[in-house]
Amino acid sequence: MRGVIGQGRILGPLGERAVRGEVAHALGFYGPRSVGKRTAALRLAQTLACEREMAGGCGTCLSCRKIERGTHPDVRMVTRSFGNRGVTIEQVRELASDLALRPLEGRKRVVIIDDAGGIEEIVQDVLLRNLEEPPSHAVLILLTTTPSSLLGTIRSRAQPITFRLVPADEIAAGLVARGIPDAERYAAAAAGLPGVAIDLATGESARADRAKIEAELYGLISSGLTARFSWAADMNELPDDKDHDRLRTREIRRRFDDWSELLRDAAVAARGDLVRPRRPERAAQSMKIAAGASPTEILGIAALVERLRRDLAYTANARAMLELFVLRLPHVAAVAA
Ligand SMILES: [Zn+2]
Repeated sequence: MRGVIGQGRILGPLGERAVRGEVAHALGFYGPRSVGKRTAALRLAQTLACEREMAGGCGTCLSCRKIERGTHPDVRMVTRSFGNRGVTIEQVRELASDLALRPLEGRKRVVIIDDAGGIEEIVQDVLLRNLEEPPSHAVLILLTTTPSSLLGTIRSRAQPITFRLVPADEIAAGLVARGIPDAERYAAAAAGLPGVAIDLATGESARADRAKIEAELYGLISSGLTARFSWAADMNELPDDKDHDRLRTREIRRRFDDWSELLRDAAVAARGDLVRPRRPERAAQSMKIAAGASPTEILGIAALVERLRRDLAYTANARAMLELFVLRLPHVAAVAA
């Protein structure tokens, strides 16, 4: 599919059928973050609306450009709302009434829910009721990293499309096609995630931010409880304004997203060999953590961070969450060096 790196085996046939207007009423795009779910969902919407009837959309006709800009009347992208909640009941009601309307310009109405796994169960129930008798033109695409957090009754109604990690040579080819130099280096560092490769390749600042957040974890691992608790207090006391909760949640999420990969690598290293690391360029630190703490501790913290990432949207007490994290974080003095 145009502009999607990898996943050709599943997206190819999906795109071919969509050109003929054949598509399920509900699809679940499952897979890790930055693997291409969002791009693929937009491309599927473009396929259904493209004036040139091309798989993936031509990218240049008016319909394709409107979808790219988010201004097409038949295509709506719903993302997690601000604050500590997921997609709200109001958003779900709105998208349901949207789906019920006939398409204005294309053949289908498409609603894409980004991060459908973060939706509270009560809201999923409302969503489910709207999946039961969908109008013939309605297409709902649910994106999530954790399909298990969707109600079984929703999952069973959605055609599952599982996104896999992309081989480095495919990512490199995708970067070369975008005119990006040093493609192989970025492709290797991205460990199967094309979105990460593109971010790394296109942004010095993305690389600097990533290194800073990695260093923050190593700093915490090598420091004592006093420093750790003051870090938790600082994280909790971000600028105090009406966007406070949203900013804080975003900052914590960025860290837990990155740290879960580093801790996952340390956990793999603790069990023996560090095979297929998510962060190959930090393999040395992952081995140091594995050598300096017990496997139980490392597996425990890796699992805890996964859980906290999931709970982050619902927690009312960010500070307690951060303190639990620093308490359980193993101490390894050598890792900061
Ligand atoms: Zn087009």
